[in-house]
Amino acid sequence: MNLHEYQAKEVFARYGIPVPQGGLATSPEQARAVAKQLGTEKVVVKAQVHAGGRGKVGGVKLVSGADAAEEAAKGMLGKMLVTKQTDAKGLPVNSVWVEKPSNIVRELYVSALVDRTSECVILMASAAGGMDIEEVAEHTPEKIKTVTVNPAAGFQAYQARELGFFMDLTKDQVDQFTKIMAGVYKIVTECDASMVEINPLIVTAEGNVFALDAKLNFDDNALFRQKSIAEMRDGSQEDERERAAAKFDLNYVTLEGDIGCMVNGAGLAMATMDIVKLHGGQPANFLDVGGGTTAEKVTEAFKLITASPEVKAIFINIFGGIVRCDLIAEGIIAAVKQVGLKIPVIARLQGTNMEKGQALLRESGLAITPISDLTEAAKAVVAASKA
Ligand code: ADP
Ligand code: MG
Repeated sequence: MNLHEYQAKEVFARYGIPVPQGGLATSPEQARAVAKQLGTEKVVVKAQVHAGGRGKVGGVKLVSGADAAEEAAKGMLGKMLVTKQTDAKGLPVNSVWVEKPSNIVRELYVSALVDRTSECVILMASAAGGMDIEEVAEHTPEKIKTVTVNPAAGFQAYQARELGFFMDLTKDQVDQFTKIMAGVYKIVTECDASMVEINPLIVTAEGNVFALDAKLNFDDNALFRQKSIAEMRDGSQEDERERAAAKFDLNYVTLEGDIGCMVNGAGLAMATMDIVKLHGGQPANFLDVGGGTTAEKVTEAFKLITASPEVKAIFINIFGGIVRCDLIAEGIIAAVKQVGLKIPVIARLQGTNMEKGQALLRESGLAITPISDLTEAAKAVVAASKA
């Protein structure tokens, strides 16, 4: 789960990480009021969406006076913001964060994330802040320094000092930076954050170190014990279908192609997408209905897939291990009857009672083609999607 910048800054403040003073506005009038209240000559108006890269596309504006703040907010609120980190549709701007401007001297980058390879939390820092860190990592990896935190020992101040001196901070700035990194690490361990990113972390003309931007990701599996974080969820920033899928315990990810895939097991789902691509097709989604799937889940999965107008054909690839193929076939038939179907379905059922399952599909009188060979099935669905 992600948070908005303003929510992440609230969490930062709780953990002693300094952030600029500001206020939230959901209307242009409110933006004006916040700007007045801040009392500075200039303010920064920032569109709140679950994506970075806002600065480059007019989602972050430095303006003079309350009138201009109202105007800037008017230009952002109610619109879709498309950035490098969103899809082509963008994300809705339902609120803006209005904050005091900072006198930026340096823009740095820091982050903390759970590194699966070392099974540790790693802390990363770079003096090349304010830029796309993926690009820095690709072209000038020597500009990024990483330290690994031993989970038994926990975060150690010397590790932050190492990063601070790497970024050429002064001694006083390193002291501020060490406190910030202690807070960052605490957010990871206490709030179950899977990533904390500050880009940019700035040094001001006054010599202060500040978090100017804030990005927090949380482990969904830990949200049950992070009530205050879970309450900050903003569904408007999430994929509608992915949210519907989560309700039924389906692992669903929207993709950009036109072949709807319904598969049981994440590994088989990955292999299915691979083989679809191998034969020139493009999956519209990743969907794992789970090992012990039920007819109800199959119906919900069907509803999800058919709700996407871009889907031109459906590929069902189910391995009947725990679940029997004839039950799956009954589920598919019931689902098709319930939601109706205008596009071809290729179904590959393998495993327990597969003959029975295939016979049920064949005799259903519906536009479902059972094919038991994976390659043949993949070729057929790709052809169907292009017909
Ligand atoms: P994003 O990462 O989505 O582009 P940021 O919050 O990082 O958004 O802002 C982009 C840039 O805008 C920053 O790198 C910084 O140069 C400038 N900026 C953002 N907030 C402020 C602020 N309070 N004062 C001065 N400049 C700011
Ligand atoms: Mg940023």
